[in-house]
Amino acid sequence: MERQDLLRKIPKVDELLGLPPLASLAEELPAGMARDAVREVLEELRQQALSGGLEALPGSMELAASAAKRARRTALPSLRPAINGTGVTLHTNLGRACLSRKAAEAVAAVARGYSTLEYDVENGCRGSRHSHIESLLASVTGSEAAMVVNNNAAAVLLMLSAIGKGGEVVASRGELVEIGGSFRIPEIMTQCGCTLREVGATNKTHLRDYEAAIGPETRALLRVHTSNYRIVGFSEQVPLAALAELGQKYGLPVIEDLGSGSLADLTSFGIHDEPTVQQSVKAGVDLISFSGDKLLGGPQAGLILGKKSYIDQLKKHPLARAVRVDKMTLAALRETLCAYLDPARAREEIPVLSMLSAPPHVLHGRAALLCQRLQDAGCPAQVVETEGQVGGGSCPTQTIPSWAVAVQPEGLTPDGLEEALRKREIPIIGRISKGQYLLDVRTLAEADFPTIEQAVREVVQ
Ligand SMILES: *Cc1c(COP(=O)(O)O)cnc(C)c1O
Repeated sequence: MERQDLLRKIPKVDELLGLPPLASLAEELPAGMARDAVREVLEELRQQALSGGLEALPGSMELAASAAKRARRTALPSLRPAINGTGVTLHTNLGRACLSRKAAEAVAAVARGYSTLEYDVENGCRGSRHSHIESLLASVTGSEAAMVVNNNAAAVLLMLSAIGKGGEVVASRGELVEIGGSFRIPEIMTQCGCTLREVGATNKTHLRDYEAAIGPETRALLRVHTSNYRIVGFSEQVPLAALAELGQKYGLPVIEDLGSGSLADLTSFGIHDEPTVQQSVKAGVDLISFSGDKLLGGPQAGLILGKKSYIDQLKKHPLARAVRVDKMTLAALRETLCAYLDPARAREEIPVLSMLSAPPHVLHGRAALLCQRLQDAGCPAQVVETEGQVGGGSCPTQTIPSWAVAVQPEGLTPDGLEEALRKREIPIIGRISKGQYLLDVRTLAEADFPTIEQAVREVVQ
């Protein structure tokens, strides 16, 4: 066909919009999105025709279907649910902790209407948003007072600004942590207006090192949990209780950035070197901060526990307003913390804990089930033993044995499969190990299996 002829026969925008694939989209998508997609499809066709790269014109129905697909893709939120087949329980890029069902329901309940966020219903006057979790945290951890801020980075910022500003804060050279990005202890100190007084060496810091650094300018002693690395071998760290005692002797608060902040003892899950919040409270640390969405298994938040006089100081600080949490976070956090009143219930209800504690035979059974489904869908697959990680900058030296399904469709490389599954409406994120594409079942639920099966079915076609 002549180019002019082809160009003339390209259908009109409205003609395509009236066809079933697009007409049915009108209610689903924001106005104009389908029209824009049709315009783009037709413009590409025009360019192809002009360059001579178009042999024949596709049918109108085909063009409408292609535009509908494009419109749907454009309308897809970039932040959307995904399936985590990496086995990394606290995958920061995949949103860290999954909320428990009850926590998610509590979010929905306060999100859609008014709530008692800062309203004291007993006395009919203004209340405090921190009140919703303070007594609960006291029951679970034994702490005297508590508050919640946006995340643990904000908690550290607030503690150092309120307590350390204008003076010196003593910290060990072995704990000058970089969390990620530009969040590093020395830089944070500068930001908070305090002077970092480094003591000890990278591998060893003694109590006498802290004591020798204390002077008239000292405002606090800082302990930072080395969440994402470990110093092993010829190394020594001052026990927390001894540090707390030293603080007391000089009337100085001991501040601890605990990082993950586990409320459960994870040793029975095979995770041995993660301290608990309760241990820090018991050791007598004056201010302790940790994340809500790491091992705690709740929403993104920074929890601060400690002595009432210091917590009151933080609550009154101008920064507190800048880093405060919203009602949805508090609702999710309350439900998450409630589960910890009963350790067995916590292990069952909180996804992070149930994933980390899943016994090998359960994981093997789950992997066998998924493997069977994929084989039935016509895709070669096998159950393999693998090793997972906790993630979220927690337990860096710890790998946890797990089971995975190696997916091996014919005619597709592991990289090709990885891309095809990743780019779907519900992205499926797996891991390539030793040349195999793996779906680790520790972070998968059986409810994910139909979606994975359907995706693999479409990919192998
Ligand atoms: C993860 C971590 C932080 C940052 O916590 P966020 O909740 O991600 O802001 C700070 N300190 C330590 C030691 C951590 O492990």
